[in-house]
Amino acid sequence: MRIETVAVHAGAEVDPGTGAVTPAIHPSTTFEREPDGSFPRGHIYSRSSAPNRAALEACLIALEGGVGAVAFSSASAATAAVFQSLAPGDHVVAPMDAYYGTGKLLREVYAGWGLATTFVDMTDLGAVEKAVRPTTKLVWAESPSNPLWKVSDLARIGAIARAAGAHYVVDNTTATPILSSPFKLGADLIVHATTKYLGGHSDVLGGIVVARERGPLFDRLRTLQTAGGAVPSPFDCWLVLRGIRTLPYRVRAQSEHALKVATFLAGHPRVERVHYPGLPDNPGHEIARRQMAMFGGMLSVQVKGGAEAAMAVAAKMRVFTRATSFGGTESLVEHRASIEGPGTTTPANLLRVSIGLEHPDDLIEDFTQALG
Ligand SMILES: *Cc1c(COP(=O)(O)O)cnc(C)c1O
Repeated sequence: MRIETVAVHAGAEVDPGTGAVTPAIHPSTTFEREPDGSFPRGHIYSRSSAPNRAALEACLIALEGGVGAVAFSSASAATAAVFQSLAPGDHVVAPMDAYYGTGKLLREVYAGWGLATTFVDMTDLGAVEKAVRPTTKLVWAESPSNPLWKVSDLARIGAIARAAGAHYVVDNTTATPILSSPFKLGADLIVHATTKYLGGHSDVLGGIVVARERGPLFDRLRTLQTAGGAVPSPFDCWLVLRGIRTLPYRVRAQSEHALKVATFLAGHPRVERVHYPGLPDNPGHEIARRQMAMFGGMLSVQVKGGAEAAMAVAAKMRVFTRATSFGGTESLVEHRASIEGPGTTTPANLLRVSIGLEHPDDLIEDFTQALG
């Protein structure tokens, strides 16, 4: 079946008791057993498993083409579980521009716990190869990466991970299952912040890990979910699943509109540089054409005149809201360096933009008036 149909139907069935077409929310923490102690309906206690969570996990398995999925209360909890599946002494290769919270977990939490990490520029395959050690057990990739939306060659990084005997994990949050299929490029695990495009309405925090194969790694992640207990609530799972129903159409519109906005900005005299993989002169354009269906809804723009000029543009915007995060229906703009704080390597004049579902001409008009 095609992905639009999967997105609408996966993890849902008409309720046999009531005929309800839309799934119910099951807040129950505990579930009835048969007289003989068995539980043929599958659930015992909601930290271990629960109906809304099982439906969300089934949907992600179908969307990504995996065999197992483990949902968490945030992508950061999902990411932490992936690192906890390793052992002290293991080595990780991770992107220099990994999601801020992922880098922070590796540096400030898991380094102390005994994980060694080498941070590399994932667009430099030689650097990835050089970073691998005999103890390398995990290679982590993200594409396009935040906030410059750099595209890395996921298949070739996967080949390096495989040759090293390391697990290969792709955080597919920014590309979504609609634009990129990391299992086809060699990934063992796919991580999503469902907080972003999958939820799609900026109203639910969540994360999920999808596995290509059953085995010890998947079992370990399931244990970390159910024993660790960082599980999403039934309502959280329900919201993400309802968001996914429209995911293919939202992501396509956001990608189409982002390309229009990026093209407009690239031709504006007050703009120094636009970072968007859909622009033909972007360094990642050719790889993106190969491994993505479209170029995504995220872009960044460097405004001439430094940090103050960039802040002034953001201050004048009317349709765009000044806020962090991305993937919702509303367009957002963010002065990234001030969010990241001291030590940031993000250019001071950079605005990060999440394209929502407004008419693209209104977004372009908003930039026109704000750039002056
Ligand atoms: C937002 C994000 C995360 C973290 O998601 P939370 O749900 O806030 O923990 C991880 N990876 C990427 C790429 C993200 O954009």
